[in-house]
Amino acid sequence: MSARAGIVVTGTEVLTGRVQDRNGPWLADRLLELGVELAHVTICGDRPSDIEAQLRFLADEGVDLIVTSGGLGPTADDMTVATVAKFCGRDLVLDAALEATIADILKNMMSRSQSWNGVDFESVLAANRKQAMVPAGAEILGPVGTAPGVVVPGTPTVVVLPGPPRELQPMWDKAVGTAGVQAAIAGRTEFVQATVRMFGLPESALAETLRDGEVGIAGFDRLEITTCLRRGELEIVTRYEPDAADVYAALLELLRERHAAQLFSTDGALVDDQVADLLAGRTIATAESCTAGMVAARLTDRAGSSAYVAGGVVSYSNDAKTNLLGVDEQLLAAHGAVSEPVAEAMAAGALDRFGADTAVAITGIAGPGGGSAEKPVGTVCFCVRLAEGPTLTRTLLLPGDRSDVRERSTTVAMHLLRRILTAPGDAD
Ligand code: ATP
Ligand code: MG
Repeated sequence: MSARAGIVVTGTEVLTGRVQDRNGPWLADRLLELGVELAHVTICGDRPSDIEAQLRFLADEGVDLIVTSGGLGPTADDMTVATVAKFCGRDLVLDAALEATIADILKNMMSRSQSWNGVDFESVLAANRKQAMVPAGAEILGPVGTAPGVVVPGTPTVVVLPGPPRELQPMWDKAVGTAGVQAAIAGRTEFVQATVRMFGLPESALAETLRDGEVGIAGFDRLEITTCLRRGELEIVTRYEPDAADVYAALLELLRERHAAQLFSTDGALVDDQVADLLAGRTIATAESCTAGMVAARLTDRAGSSAYVAGGVVSYSNDAKTNLLGVDEQLLAAHGAVSEPVAEAMAAGALDRFGADTAVAITGIAGPGGGSAEKPVGTVCFCVRLAEGPTLTRTLLLPGDRSDVRERSTTVAMHLLRRILTAPGDAD
């Protein structure tokens, strides 16, 4: 037994890449959590014949469930409900209760917003009557915006959701609760999903460890392992049925044994989460040259970060390094802006300037210009420093283009912070 699903993302703006698809990946995660196997995600424009072709394709593939996103609005180019009704062989019928609900929502919106001034309520209602037309026998998902979703039970069951992610996401839970979806996913398998993260390990080394696991761990093929290299971090996601927990435990043991220095998370936590936790009760300041605030942005990405982020300096020019962070001009002249002594002075300056107890400094050559034989593009110096003394200084040669170097530098900085805050005694 299993349950398979397909996702049809509609919208010419998504097809052409003007809007990046956020619904396909989000729904993919939800299906995975449910234990439903996702067979395909397709993207097509707003043309009914194209939407119908995708539905036909997925139905022919034998999926139990199809989820569509987009095309539920009041305008004529929003055709998904009518297309799905036709595909499922059902008439479109006016749902009077739904029409009244939509009228209430609109009345509310019009009374709250100036932009509706002078707009005739009756004409708005007429345009929105279209949104109260649903396939006969469909289960209705109450609107989050003005567009209701529908679940059309059958083989396959089709769930029709609105395009805006903030409307689609709350509606998904309602959809899962319907009889139509429950029947379609009855054959699903419950899976456990676990995530391990590593930093600084080449994918090939992990591949070798996994090959050894295949030979040495009994039942290894019960683990469905996917690895993905992102920003210098390896993400290892494993899915398994609950009774294979001991096989997963053996894999974890092997990873710990082989790659203790690189393994930083076994519960899925991101380095950002860990650094945020480690900074509790402390204050951090940043001094950034080549990343120009990207570390500060990452540190402040979390709600509540004002409790521990004091501030930062984007010291792109030498003058800024000197004037704002107190880096000695002679140090800059002697070693160059991209050097360990300057990174250390920047970190010390940040501690001082903000009265912080933790600092991170980055200075490097992101390229494409500015490199030399001695300091090629991708050379980046880091310093993390605690007011109580421990300091960690590193120079790395990072691969990739300008944006890769800047992004990777940001990640390296987070890992150095994690390291010094976890084990200040190990700093050198
Ligand atoms: P509306 O009533 O807003 O027209 P709708 O259900 O008809 O809702 P669409 O017209 O397909 O939805 O999309 C409306 C907007 O929602 C898009 O312009 C886009 O900004 C956003 N959107 C739609 N689909 C996606 C998607 N797959 N990923 C991210 N954003 C999307
Ligand atoms: Mg629309």
